[in-house]
Amino acid sequence: MKRVAVTGGAGFIGSHLIDNLLKRGNKVLCIDNLITGNRENIKHHMNNENFEFIYYDVSKPFYTDIKIDFIFHFASPASPIDYQKYPIQTLKVGGLGTHNMLGLCKEHEAGFLLASTSEVYGDPLIHPQTEDYWGNVNPIGPRGVYDEAKRFAEAITMAYYRYHGLDTRIVRIFNTFGPRMRKNDGRVVPAFINQALLNNPLTVFGNGSQTRSFCFVQDLVEGLLTFMETDEHYPINLGNPKEMTVLEFAEIVIKLTGSQSDIIFQKLPVDDPKIRQPNIARAQEFLNWKPKVTLEEGLKKTIEYFKEKL
Ligand code: UDP
Repeated sequence: MKRVAVTGGAGFIGSHLIDNLLKRGNKVLCIDNLITGNRENIKHHMNNENFEFIYYDVSKPFYTDIKIDFIFHFASPASPIDYQKYPIQTLKVGGLGTHNMLGLCKEHEAGFLLASTSEVYGDPLIHPQTEDYWGNVNPIGPRGVYDEAKRFAEAITMAYYRYHGLDTRIVRIFNTFGPRMRKNDGRVVPAFINQALLNNPLTVFGNGSQTRSFCFVQDLVEGLLTFMETDEHYPINLGNPKEMTVLEFAEIVIKLTGSQSDIIFQKLPVDDPKIRQPNIARAQEFLNWKPKVTLEEGLKKTIEYFKEKL
């Protein structure tokens, strides 16, 4: 039975990944310092003998005698307001944290999967984004702390692959949503759903013409588990290619919640990418993966989750 460590395992994506790993029969070591993660997301595993939680900041060196076979490195603040609230921690976990986890992998001769992001493409000049695009990132803007941390994380992961022959993988995750997102993490999905459920106005930033493409978390996790089993070392995009404007998305949320909310327009955040859509040809080729859950199905599950949390 393989033991898999998940950094950021108490977070949104990390905790869904852990649910699936345990279901598959893996042993899981969840490492999280809970700055944006939440114990609530993993509490249903606390009595499972195959699950262990370690409260720890992986930006500091980490050693363990427990034999680890694979590491998913998912620890990082990930919403724009979170990484602007914790800019130094974001840079450290992407930089030092990734270095520490690669060192742990080397020690344990384990496999490694880095959670990277569509943010490495910045405000993209290529559309849809393919993995061979190098990106258009402002290193000193408010998003630079996240974007550059993940770009460094990719660079050091490739260096460990090339120099030490480590068994690494890099996934570039596009906008993902589902239950366990934090109500107030500032991202558009929890923001709009909670505004709609309270019949408050939906806050569209700018004129709402910027685009995003939203992937349901279970689809993403299935892609991650397939990726784990391959030996493809170059980055792969995972996301749902169905693209829409933020304004269209607001209208969909109002319709699905049956809300009376209006839409109001607020200032567009600095460096907010104007367009984003994954090209998933590599995921289809190497993982035989494409998303199955429609936006409507995924949103219904997410709306149910937030209704219970009201
Ligand atoms: N957005 C919005 N209203 C909100 C929150 C976000 O219009 O209350 C917009 C934001 O400006 C961006 C898109 O929705 O264009 C997605 O934002 P999010 O923070 O979810 O993630 P991003 O894709 O920017 O990392």
